[in-house]
Amino acid sequence: MASPDKPSSTAEIASKTLKSLVTQKLAPTPENYARVYAEISGKPNAVVAQKEVEPGVSQAPARPALAWSGLIRDLLRQLEAHHKGVTLSRKKDGLDTVLTKFAANPEVLYEKLHGLLRSWAGAGVPATPAATPAVSPSSETAVTAKEPELGIVAVPLQTPAVSGIVVGHEMMADLQELLAQTLESNKALEPGMAEEITALVQQVRSVREHEQVTDLAKKLRHFWVKLELRGGDKAKIQEGLVRLLRLLVENVGELVADDKWLHGQIAMLQDIIAQPLDKRSIADAERSLRDALIKQSTLKKSLADAKATLKSLMTTFIDRMGELTESTGEYHAKIENYTQKIGQADNLTELGHILEDIMQDTRVIQASALRSHEELVTARRQVDDAEDRIRQLEQELEQVSELVREDQLTGTLNRRGLDEMLERESMRADRSQSPVSMALIDIDNFKLFNDLLGHQAGDQALMHVSEVVKNALRPTDYVARYGGEEFLLVLPGTGLNEAVEIVSRLQRLLSKNLFVYNHEELVITFSGGVAVRAGGEPAEEVIARADRAMYHAKASGKNRVVKAE
Ligand code: GH3
Ligand code: MG
Ligand code: MG
Repeated sequence: MASPDKPSSTAEIASKTLKSLVTQKLAPTPENYARVYAEISGKPNAVVAQKEVEPGVSQAPARPALAWSGLIRDLLRQLEAHHKGVTLSRKKDGLDTVLTKFAANPEVLYEKLHGLLRSWAGAGVPATPAATPAVSPSSETAVTAKEPELGIVAVPLQTPAVSGIVVGHEMMADLQELLAQTLESNKALEPGMAEEITALVQQVRSVREHEQVTDLAKKLRHFWVKLELRGGDKAKIQEGLVRLLRLLVENVGELVADDKWLHGQIAMLQDIIAQPLDKRSIADAERSLRDALIKQSTLKKSLADAKATLKSLMTTFIDRMGELTESTGEYHAKIENYTQKIGQADNLTELGHILEDIMQDTRVIQASALRSHEELVTARRQVDDAEDRIRQLEQELEQVSELVREDQLTGTLNRRGLDEMLERESMRADRSQSPVSMALIDIDNFKLFNDLLGHQAGDQALMHVSEVVKNALRPTDYVARYGGEEFLLVLPGTGLNEAVEIVSRLQRLLSKNLFVYNHEELVITFSGGVAVRAGGEPAEEVIARADRAMYHAKASGKNRVVKAE
């Protein structure tokens, strides 16, 4: 019998080696293994150890012991190796299932784990081949001892049935500890999951019964799925951002000379980046950017068409001039020159200048080409029209990006702009623990107003109200068109009483700034409900409270402001 200090059997050395790796917190690499093994066995190096071991294997009795150490090493290595058609998560699932199902029987577990390795290897890179056929034909549970690579190998034990299980239990404990340490190493990578990891590690270390293993396996599976999902989400966000940036960069060169459009897009991107990123906000941004780009490319096509029409008009005219003035040689030469210039011109200003020059030249030979002059005048008018149209298109183009977030009639925020702003301001308020007041204002008797003066007058009245309100508020306040004739005012850093004061001031302002329509002066009034946001309260609930207060204002006679409870 070997003394505790000097292990005699190789399996015992292997077991102690594994234990020592765990207690020293060394990574279970083949190199560390070989080194510790050599220390424990007292053999100078791994090669010597291997040579010592081999004869033992060749004289294997009926049942070989289980080469756990080699198996663990292979498992660790093959888990990380690339196998075509077998993903890491599939490997983990397989491992998990085998560990759960066969934990109670180390021999079966050993065999199943080998089977697993073989199945991965079968799909791609082969696992280390079994070389020593140390299997007894009579043994049902016998397994194949593997060719040692670094002197760590299974050796037959004197009483295989008992010792095999003892070694198996020890190894299971070591495996448990290895698993615990592997889990611990994830803490650094996923600090957000540290608590969960600590709990899992505790559970891993305390597992004793088969039933506990089943529960642990379930938790481990959840943990892996969660870990992968977290990674996946980050990757998706990164991918989304990259796609957004690419979209922007690809289109920068395509934009019209005026860079307002670009400013709008960049402001929007800054908004997104300022908020915590998630897949949804990036997808929203991408969608709105795409909307704008589609609209923009349509407008650009119209622009290009307008330029092409202008060019062909001018070329036709020049051709015609050439026919008419064949007699004047000098003019003919000039015309050649103009035709060339028109062909090369790529912007409207240039085309305009060429046309100017042609007209100048034409005036000289006016007498002989009166009809041509008339054509020139027509052409000039057409050029002006085209230029007007182009200016209009360019303006539209400029506004595309802003329009997405603004109400077209009043220039206040639309629902989309409002939602984004509310999310941003709510977060800011929670961070700085400051109040945000919201006021819902609804124009009084607006239906009657429309009925009496017409819808167009109604539209202008809405613009008038929004102008007065916007001008009276601070730059940090927001106005959004909440419904037909309802506006929502959002006042960050403002308490309830102050907000009521502000809205009452707006009422007084509106009764002083009369709305003028068809030389008639009209007073527009509104009713308002004001609520202040309680910390963490969702914006829609604040609005609902403001709405109820506004309803009270209407019910108690209109043209007044009511505080929400
Ligand atoms: P109350 O004082 O109770 O608010 O009465 P009201 O007539 O203002 O309210 P009601 O909700 O009955 O009618 C609102 C009207 O606002 C009906 C609709 O025709 C008009 N409206 C909504 N949007 C627009 C718009 O964009 N332009 C114009 N001109 N009118 C609008
Ligand atoms: Mg209304
Ligand atoms: Mg109304």
